[in-house]
Amino acid sequence: MELLLKDVLIIPEPDTAQIFRANIVIEDNIISTIAPNAQIPDPEFIIRGKSLVVLPPPINSHSHLPMTLLRGFSDNKTLMAWLQDIWEIEGKFNARWITLGTKLACLEMIKAGIGGAADFYFHESLIGKVMQEAGIRGWLGAGILPSAFVDQGGYEFQLGEFNRIIEYSKRSPLIYAAIAPHSQMTVPEEIILKTADLAESHQVPLMIHSSETRKEVLDSEDRYGVPPVERLEQIGFFREDTKEILAHCTWITQREVEILGKHQVTVGWCPVSSQKLAYGGVTPVPELRTAGALVALGTDGAASNNTLDLWREMREASNVISASRWDPALYPAEQVLEDTCWSFRRNFHPDSLIKVDNQADLVILNFQVPHLKPMHNIISNIIYAANGSDVHSLIVNGTLLMHNRKVLTLNETEIIDEIEENVKELV
Ligand SMILES: [Zn+2]
Repeated sequence: MELLLKDVLIIPEPDTAQIFRANIVIEDNIISTIAPNAQIPDPEFIIRGKSLVVLPPPINSHSHLPMTLLRGFSDNKTLMAWLQDIWEIEGKFNARWITLGTKLACLEMIKAGIGGAADFYFHESLIGKVMQEAGIRGWLGAGILPSAFVDQGGYEFQLGEFNRIIEYSKRSPLIYAAIAPHSQMTVPEEIILKTADLAESHQVPLMIHSSETRKEVLDSEDRYGVPPVERLEQIGFFREDTKEILAHCTWITQREVEILGKHQVTVGWCPVSSQKLAYGGVTPVPELRTAGALVALGTDGAASNNTLDLWREMREASNVISASRWDPALYPAEQVLEDTCWSFRRNFHPDSLIKVDNQADLVILNFQVPHLKPMHNIISNIIYAANGSDVHSLIVNGTLLMHNRKVLTLNETEIIDEIEENVKELV
């Protein structure tokens, strides 16, 4: 695809001082030129506008995409009561529901300008197929969870799913394999270590939920004598050449912060889901960043968030740190933007940052709206005033997925009708 972005404001790094105005030329899937007067003879699309702002699309560091089907199904409950509601329905999630829920999620993500997700679920190979068709990037964590919690085929099927994702990832430029044991409290040690071995031998990310609630921490201390992150280190979960993503880390000690920093773990922080499920704690983001861990923003599933809109998540992320820590300077807007649009990409796919010769992943925001004026500080407006509906267009790997709010890779009306017609059969 040949695309020309004309006279747009570009945020090449999460730094207000570096913002500049130029044209961007995309040929095939690559950014070929960034310059004030760059041209191309016959572009398929020209996107122009003095109030258009371009940056790398956010990537969701922790999602369960098919859970869009359960948005608004169970609210205002604590984690265990909520999980009972959810697990009962998730047991029924077959190929049909997984595909339908993922289509809705991909549509929602494209409309909100989200460029990809590190997902964690059953049947990830089906999820990958939908993401590939939608055109967004997927790090697909084959979910590993004993049948006692949710009956989804048991370990053998789940590990088979990991192999299917590995094979699929070899054929797709957008799909990356990963493996995802549910948590150290729900999955036995020998299975957790097997998944770590697989991640190490295949050189793929290793994802796990950790230290989500205070109860989980107290249970871990009762059962093993140490909190979750310490136990993961004791059993040999963290490996030198493996990239781990720990979701949540809401209740962790300074000692665990140091462990996560030492192993350069990515913490998939989901502030809205944690607040809604009343976890009480707040992930110690400033300490994690100082210790050398990577922080990347995620939404968790749409059953506990209840959206996949990372622009809204950014505002919440900044405000919850300020409010709970009594310090509005502890997690400033530029760092929040870094942790949403840059940190995951830098760690897992640096070839798609905004640079000449890189793969073209670009989200275009329309600032020609009242709530984004005046433009004293563009990054401030993005964090504190924008939402997913401000996205004008989305480009991933050089393909235009949405142009001026019209989705080009999925049929929006058809998917919404399909949801309305089918979902009553599920619940
Ligand atoms: Zn989760």
